[in-house]
Amino acid sequence: MKFISTRRVAPPVTFFEALLNGLAPDGGLYIPRQFVHLSEAFLKHAENNTLLQLGEAVMENFLPEVPRADMQKIINDTLTFPIPLIELENNLYLSEVFHGPTLAFKDVGARFMANALAYYLKNKNMKLTIIVATSGDTGSAIAHGFHKTPNIDVYILYPSGKITALQEKQMTTLGDNIHALEVTGTFDDCQVLVKTALMDDEIKAKIQLTTANSINIARLLPQTIYHGWALEQIKKINLTADPTMVVPSGNFGNLTAALYARGIGFPINHFVAATNANAIVPSYLQSGEFIPKPTEHTLSNAMDVGNPSNFERLNIFYDKDVRRMRHDISGFSISDAETLTQIRQSYEKSGYILDPHTAVGVAAAKQFQLKEPSNTDPLIVTATAHPAKFPDVIKEAIGIDIPLPAALQTALDLPKQATVISPQFAELKKILLASS
Ligand SMILES: *Cc1c(COP(=O)(O)O)cnc(C)c1O
Repeated sequence: MKFISTRRVAPPVTFFEALLNGLAPDGGLYIPRQFVHLSEAFLKHAENNTLLQLGEAVMENFLPEVPRADMQKIINDTLTFPIPLIELENNLYLSEVFHGPTLAFKDVGARFMANALAYYLKNKNMKLTIIVATSGDTGSAIAHGFHKTPNIDVYILYPSGKITALQEKQMTTLGDNIHALEVTGTFDDCQVLVKTALMDDEIKAKIQLTTANSINIARLLPQTIYHGWALEQIKKINLTADPTMVVPSGNFGNLTAALYARGIGFPINHFVAATNANAIVPSYLQSGEFIPKPTEHTLSNAMDVGNPSNFERLNIFYDKDVRRMRHDISGFSISDAETLTQIRQSYEKSGYILDPHTAVGVAAAKQFQLKEPSNTDPLIVTATAHPAKFPDVIKEAIGIDIPLPAALQTALDLPKQATVISPQFAELKKILLASS
């Protein structure tokens, strides 16, 4: 299977070339050249598969060139945690994709990328250095996903004092091949440093350097697995209607993965794009104009994105036709006040504590039901993070101190290991060259 650029200028590449390139040379994002349907025989009885079996089938469909035994190992090493479907209330389900080591769905993509790379490097007898800038959650998912992955060194740049103590501990306490660089500057400074390093000729000559940000196709594709899995769980509880998938969104990778799940044959009736105040895509669905805006800070901060990078993938999926996109996707923007109300209401009604991102999804699901009263599809909201990651918001919403899960408490108690650097490129360059 080949991967092409959304801008159609760069040549088609293999999956591993797309993974290593990150961004296509024409500035576009890599997408599968075509969507091949899973076989009818498989889809008919897909609910009889385990999560691992379903994961293998989905990824083999995208990457038929990887031998089966190798794909099995990659999937086994990626999906090391359950992805349960929970009934929140009548006809409204949560697909809990947050049971990985950093308690958010980004673990799935980060782990798949790490394991796929380990397989590739072993075959090629190569070494690789990964560099990422993070404002918090991506860094911890990458750190955990790549920890102890053979032949890979990881440098994570984060802005000093601008991430939570928990986020910092999650990426600075692993050690081994994970190197945390605390930058005395902003997240933008970190991004500039990463971009400069990726373009520096001297570094390029000495080390094989790439990044692992969320636009990487290797992080996006495995997310189709859990959307397909949620559908099969629904079948098991004997619901016959095709569901509507509600996806709390920021950069829109998760929603793109849900579209791809339907692209390979999983039966999904409709999609709901749930955003916080950063309503770029819901506004686009309304007006037909894509207008990026400065990021607004909200309680669901992992979705604070004013210029969603995967819009380019969404747009191409619908041949840049807003009417076709509207037919499939409804958009809702949820305020912080509505987010808090939803956390409170769900807690009072069901005893379930929603994290603020998932709460945006549930609130959007309810607005969709109000707007489309004749639609009786089961609604599946992707539950993107564990509430314990956002204790302040939970406290504000329902007055409860939520206990930290054991894995996070352990990280908090370990000593931080980070190298402090200034936003001057020379310092980063010296560190990278010294590692070669
Ligand atoms: C990253 C993230 C999102 C947004 O996902 P996108 O794929 O960027 O749309 C939502 N919720 C949580 C908890 C996240 O970490």
